[in-house]
Amino acid sequence: MTHRRGERNRVQRRHSVFFQRIDFSRCRVLFCLWACLVFPALLYPAGLSYTLAFDQLTWKYLTVTIQLENPSGRRLLFSMPNWIPGAYEWGLFGDQVIDFSAVDSSGAKLAWEKLSRSDWEVQGGEGPISVAYTLKPISRSYWGTGLDSTGALLEGAATWMRVRDLEKMPVRVRVRAPAGWRIATGLTRETGESWVAGGYDELADCPLLLGALSDTSFVVDGARHELYFHGEAAIDRPAFTAMVGRIVAAQSRLMGGLPYTRYVFQFILSADERGSSGLEHRNSTTIRLSSLEVMKDVRSAASIISHEFFHLWNVKRITSAAFAPLNYQQEARTESLWWFEGVTSYYADLALLRSGVWTGDEFLRHQAMEIERLQDNPDRLRTTLAQASWRVWQNGFAGPGISYYNKGQLLGLLLDVMIRKATRNEKSLDHVLHYLYHTYARAGRGVGDDEWADILRQAAGKDFTAFLDRYLYGLAELPYQEILAFAGLKAVVQTERMPTIGAIRIIGPRNRVFSLEETSAAGRAGLRRNDLILSIDDQAFKGEAGLYEWVGKKTIGDTVRLLISRDGIQWPLTVAVDSREQISCTLSLSPSPDPMALAIRNSLLSGP
Ligand SMILES: [Zn+2]
Repeated sequence: MTHRRGERNRVQRRHSVFFQRIDFSRCRVLFCLWACLVFPALLYPAGLSYTLAFDQLTWKYLTVTIQLENPSGRRLLFSMPNWIPGAYEWGLFGDQVIDFSAVDSSGAKLAWEKLSRSDWEVQGGEGPISVAYTLKPISRSYWGTGLDSTGALLEGAATWMRVRDLEKMPVRVRVRAPAGWRIATGLTRETGESWVAGGYDELADCPLLLGALSDTSFVVDGARHELYFHGEAAIDRPAFTAMVGRIVAAQSRLMGGLPYTRYVFQFILSADERGSSGLEHRNSTTIRLSSLEVMKDVRSAASIISHEFFHLWNVKRITSAAFAPLNYQQEARTESLWWFEGVTSYYADLALLRSGVWTGDEFLRHQAMEIERLQDNPDRLRTTLAQASWRVWQNGFAGPGISYYNKGQLLGLLLDVMIRKATRNEKSLDHVLHYLYHTYARAGRGVGDDEWADILRQAAGKDFTAFLDRYLYGLAELPYQEILAFAGLKAVVQTERMPTIGAIRIIGPRNRVFSLEETSAAGRAGLRRNDLILSIDDQAFKGEAGLYEWVGKKTIGDTVRLLISRDGIQWPLTVAVDSREQISCTLSLSPSPDPMALAIRNSLLSGP
């Protein structure tokens, strides 16, 4: 309480000096600008504040204190979100709360009751009240909160309780960071250790990355881009930064400018990370990268950066009616993730091509790999793209079945070509994107699942109802060859028979079998989960890749000898090599396209 009053006094004092020097009535615009830039506290009254402190003994706990005025003394409901927007899966972050208390301004305890896994109700207390809770963050490998002695990642929705009915109130965040830690966040900095947000949605959308961060920055189209890195890695920092700058510039060109003045990239580099993952926000993104892969080639990070960055338009501004407004407590199902994720991946790839990060051949190779992935998945004949999106809440974003990223990206490519073909290359998917941005996003309106045919008609002037019925809501195979030919591209999709002993997932340095199909050749020969595979044909090997490489050299009908260890006993297994179908796809430029196909190809590949 004392601290907050101190803040107010300071505001008042600066105010006075300012008024003595300048005639306010003639300089209102100037004053507002100055206030926004120099002293955001003037715009953000300290009615609701969050203070964050770290347990620096065991590095296991965080304590959040919420202070607010409660002039009417009414009951207040504090809720921990159940999911992080963008993650589309249950997080149930209330389960991380291990301690809760509430006091009034005199320090007297206020009665409270836990109403559910995520809701705490505090009984009244007139005037200022203070609520404190302790979080035990779950591991860093999960999208939520993570903490250890080297740093922390705090996703807003997994950290900050929502005060019901006060979601629109501006908030102040104070962080008592451990010595030597820096803080990277998209929140607006007010003073050294305090940040402000216009309301709960902004607070929840601005994760904090803390630690001994290194950083760099660049400016594109007048907007400042800050890159922060957690984790030591000898990556080629200038090349990495230049690549990010090119991606930003290409996407800005496509969208007609950047809708922010400051954007924050939070990179977490780890040698333990396999592949990469990220989460999007309106003016920031958090991206985990394998430091080993980025050290080898900074371009290994290009796809995820381009994808997460493009989300600042597609999903954070152009959004689904299911997320507008956001409901943090209940699942928000939509059939439209094919657009918000799949089409985001399509534009991410186009940006890599148009920025020169990828060559034309690399772009085509990546699209061909997406075709292989979909055609290799038998679920494409059972689950529609709209259903795949709808079911993410039960299947998980990387769950079984077809992926709305994968098929959505391909649908985006085919739709782009079809719009260009139908309009004699006068319109493209870019027009649909711009229509959504200017008509929906700027009006704060979400896109309804049943609006896509109308949107395409409005933006492209053509009727795509039958196209959507077949490929989005239906199970028809995507006609790659036929449609890509309209863009002067030749698609060859072939089925090959490849040697296999089954889909075996192997983890760890001792080649432990994590999963396998029991009906596969290896399963029939007696291989079981948790067996250790010591050698194949008396040769040591490394992990799944090593096993598949060895089997790949065999002929169907051959046998391989596995030496396994189960319960400390070694024994040999002889496995007959089976066969499986593998789809291979090549995409190339048609040697002699007609003039329209050539024009479509040129404009699609070179873009704005
Ligand atoms: Zn995404």
